[in-house]
Amino acid sequence: MSLTPAGRVVFIGAGPGSADLITVRGAQRLAQADVVLFDALTDPTLRDLAPSARWIDVGKRGYCDSTGQASIDALLVRMARQHALVVRLKGGDPSVFGRLEEELLALAAAGIESEVVPGVTAAIAAAASSRRPLTRRGRGRSVSLTTAMTDSGQLSAGRHADTEVFYMAGRQLGKLGRALRAAGWPADTAACVVSRAGWPDCVVSDHLLTDLAAAAVLHAGRPTVVIVGAGAVAVTGATAPKTLAADMAPAGHMASAP
Ligand code: SAH
Repeated sequence: MSLTPAGRVVFIGAGPGSADLITVRGAQRLAQADVVLFDALTDPTLRDLAPSARWIDVGKRGYCDSTGQASIDALLVRMARQHALVVRLKGGDPSVFGRLEEELLALAAAGIESEVVPGVTAAIAAAASSRRPLTRRGRGRSVSLTTAMTDSGQLSAGRHADTEVFYMAGRQLGKLGRALRAAGWPADTAACVVSRAGWPDCVVSDHLLTDLAAAAVLHAGRPTVVIVGAGAVAVTGATAPKTLAADMAPAGHMASAP
């Protein structure tokens, strides 16, 4: 019996929501897949791009802890030994908070080739849905993508860039506001909360750090990012075109009263 791997693995960023935000390259590779291992946050209609592939759900249910990650790594290797093209479909971009390192290491250890196709990460989708450029001439020269959660599940926040986009903070918004103030952000710093960015039912709300807790109820139970600093400030008069509103029901906007 030969242990030579037969196939390769392509990591594809599915984008943050609606299936049409996957890249053309991602869609092409997906169409050639024999097996697709997909995450919870990917759009189910992406299945139409690879109807004859075997789709395996490795998302939240049953795979949420570190043991889960080890079984995903093992499954990826096993599938690659049995099939020509295995796709690992991840929400947003695989390189941003996507456990890509662990999976690349597992494949490398098994001598299996891999490729990464980028996707639209949640921060970029949130900027688009809310019409908030993350960089601003003269004021916003740097952007940081930060997870609000440490490995041990503690909330952690600092001040690293003119604009910071926090992932995985949706359940602890009040705490995030307090941590940011403790880290030196002024109390009147703008914070824009965006949930289900890129989806037709995206919700955007505006806050100051002092009232970030008020966003919790608006965005409860939805994938959420928080834009803080220069890039969170609304661009005066920038609204969605009426035609887009009719076709897509774009970002609902709730201006909170800070
Ligand atoms: N690889 C993904 C991030 C995975 S971590 C990416 O590049 O986007 C999961 C976190 O991403 C969620 O807790 C949430 O903070 C954020 N997220 C994912 N999809 C989102 C969406 N459509 N809108 C807002 N935030 C989202």
